[in-house]
Amino acid sequence: MRAAVITKYNSDWELKTVPDPRPSAGQVVIKIHASGMCGTDLHVHHGAFGLPLPIVAGHEPAGEIVELGPGVVDFKVGDRVGVHWNQKGCGRCRVCQTGDQAHCAQAQSWMHIGGGNSELMLAWASGCTLLPEGLDYAAAAPIFCAGYTVMSGLRNADPKPGERVAVLGLGGLGHLALQFSRAVGLETWAITGQADKVPELKAMGASEVLVTGAEPGKAMTDAGGFDIVLSTTNSSKQVSSAVGGLRLNGRLMSMGVTPDGPLTIDTMTLLLGQRQIRGSSQDERSDLVEALALVAAGKVKPRLETYPITKVNEVRERLASGKVRYRAVLLHA
Ligand SMILES: [Zn+2]
Ligand SMILES: [Zn+2]
Repeated sequence: MRAAVITKYNSDWELKTVPDPRPSAGQVVIKIHASGMCGTDLHVHHGAFGLPLPIVAGHEPAGEIVELGPGVVDFKVGDRVGVHWNQKGCGRCRVCQTGDQAHCAQAQSWMHIGGGNSELMLAWASGCTLLPEGLDYAAAAPIFCAGYTVMSGLRNADPKPGERVAVLGLGGLGHLALQFSRAVGLETWAITGQADKVPELKAMGASEVLVTGAEPGKAMTDAGGFDIVLSTTNSSKQVSSAVGGLRLNGRLMSMGVTPDGPLTIDTMTLLLGQRQIRGSSQDERSDLVEALALVAAGKVKPRLETYPITKVNEVRERLASGKVRYRAVLLHA
């Protein structure tokens, strides 16, 4: 099969023919149709995870099961599925024993058995989720990282009817967070530094769009404050500032990685307003299923740029230089 293989960090990924994968017990082989490219793939490219090479990246894969390993009984050949990051826990640690294998420190992911930038991908059956009928592969792909992450953030914020939500950072994750929050009926503002995105964000359903700079907190307070901030920005300064834009008992859900450094938050800001900051990533499996259902129902529309897999290096460079507006998806012919 053909795959985009990382053979050396900080170098072009090599499109080459490699042996077809064989499924072990509990695994399936998926013919990949679409594979989203996430910001995390840039960290992979730079060697941030220290993974042994060669490796195939791609953690937003969607495709069709073409082979079952021994003992797989829940899926069948022909099933349309996607695969999220943590596919299977060790089964024996305290976290796994409580039934939460996705949060196992030893969980198996694409980093152990290869990702979706390949014609055929190996996956643990326990990491596969069926695509709703009618949902196409390209639209489904980004839900397996970006969409899942922000739907968990929204659910973990425990929104109440009538609460007001701000989405901070409107890229691959944020544009989905905005639409999910609207789809479940919440007043949702977009907080962005990119004024040219205003018409698109309005079209996606934003109740209002606030264009702010590195310190959005004051503008958020001036706008009346927010009960929930879904933060997907990679600027620690913006996140720190946005905490001040929370209303009494407000919750900021931190979902973006901030390579520019740690958050700086005045403890008075936290305690006087009973404000909370919570880290959130892909959590309950039901969040993923809910997100897929909203996309399948047409209530949430991922904004995609699609490219053939042969353009994998150009797409990665586009993403690195900030040219991908929302989400780039690689298509396998
Ligand atoms: Zn990702
Ligand atoms: Zn475990």
